[in-house]
Amino acid sequence: MTDAGDAFARAEEAELARRRTADGEQAGPPAGGGPRSGASRDDDRVVSPLADSDERAIESALRPKRLDDFVGQGRVREQLSLLLRSALRRGRPPDHVLMSGPPGLGKTTIAMIIAAELGAPMRITSGPAIERSGDLAAVLSTLQEGEVVFIDEIHRLARPAEEMLYLAMEDFRVDIVVGKGPGATAIPLDIAPFTLVGATTRAGLLPAPLRDRFGFTAHLDFYQPEELSVIVRRSAGLLSVRIEDAGIGELAQRSRGTPRIANRLLRRVRDYAEVRADGLVTREITRTALELYEVDEMGLDRLDRAVLDALIRRFGGGPVGLSTLAVAVGEEAETVEVVAEPFLVRHGLLARTPRGRVATRAGWEHLGLTPPAITEMPTLFD
Ligand code: ADP
Repeated sequence: MTDAGDAFARAEEAELARRRTADGEQAGPPAGGGPRSGASRDDDRVVSPLADSDERAIESALRPKRLDDFVGQGRVREQLSLLLRSALRRGRPPDHVLMSGPPGLGKTTIAMIIAAELGAPMRITSGPAIERSGDLAAVLSTLQEGEVVFIDEIHRLARPAEEMLYLAMEDFRVDIVVGKGPGATAIPLDIAPFTLVGATTRAGLLPAPLRDRFGFTAHLDFYQPEELSVIVRRSAGLLSVRIEDAGIGELAQRSRGTPRIANRLLRRVRDYAEVRADGLVTREITRTALELYEVDEMGLDRLDRAVLDALIRRFGGGPVGLSTLAVAVGEEAETVEVVAEPFLVRHGLLARTPRGRVATRAGWEHLGLTPPAITEMPTLFD
């Protein structure tokens, strides 16, 4: 195994170990200290973009390990490739990298790829796991030169840890505070140059001083069906699933533009094909199985449709505030905002306006309803 491969394997092991112990923490809605209930409910959804612990083990097996194997996000991939190559050429760790975007689009995967491409070891942690600045100091003060530190849900870092990170990112230094009260002293400690990779589902919540310290920022967007087809084909190969092209196309269409969901639906459809047919995944099998799992032709699941349904049937199409809408569907506002909304907005079914959430004409039509004639229908660009 190459050094980089070795580093990757270590990173994967570390990730699995950490995620096993921190189970639930990562799968939770990325709320600012938000409640967990949304997560457990969300885990029941077959198209939830969040992953549970069993799934993460499978995901590790399906994760592309090098930049060349990473499908889609062409611009980000090219920019990253330049960043990494030039860093390797200079023999210095690259700039800190911030990735934002909805869950399941490949932020963790890219962080691991960065470490693998650099042949560097990697530490994985998350905003909610760092409760005190001491937790962060423990990580930073034991880094090896060039190590990649991945902080998932970085917008949930506690304030003191965040401030410690500013100094560490800029000057590779941490101030360790010794003692309490008036006698407390800060002892500066040099740390090894490292690369921070931060991931967030809510870039808007990152304070500007933190955002500004990232030299490279990338936003991951939903994938096109053609890209998801490539991902499904690759995953089917790795999982030895027999699947026809038409089945791949159908799955790619219904995966909410999200690789994690595509991989999950593939496994559910495989189960169906094995139990109810001869194991071959055809378009027909895919359609019937996804109907069973309540995923519609556009990829909307129960929660997506519940949000749209409440917005239209209970609030006349809006405008309605996020929290009211969340209560109406019995979910956390965070879950509605991070999980359901981005996709509904992306597909032009719902619009966020300064006055609240509004259903678009396409939203009414998706539920088979006729939008009211008098009301001005908002467009995506309102
Ligand atoms: P995030 O950190 O954004 O929530 P992950 O990086 O954990 O998402 O990705 C979830 C799963 O989706 C991974 O296991 C990986 O197999 C798959 N995946 C994500 N992006 C890609 C991609 N571009 N190509 C292939 N598989 C991908």
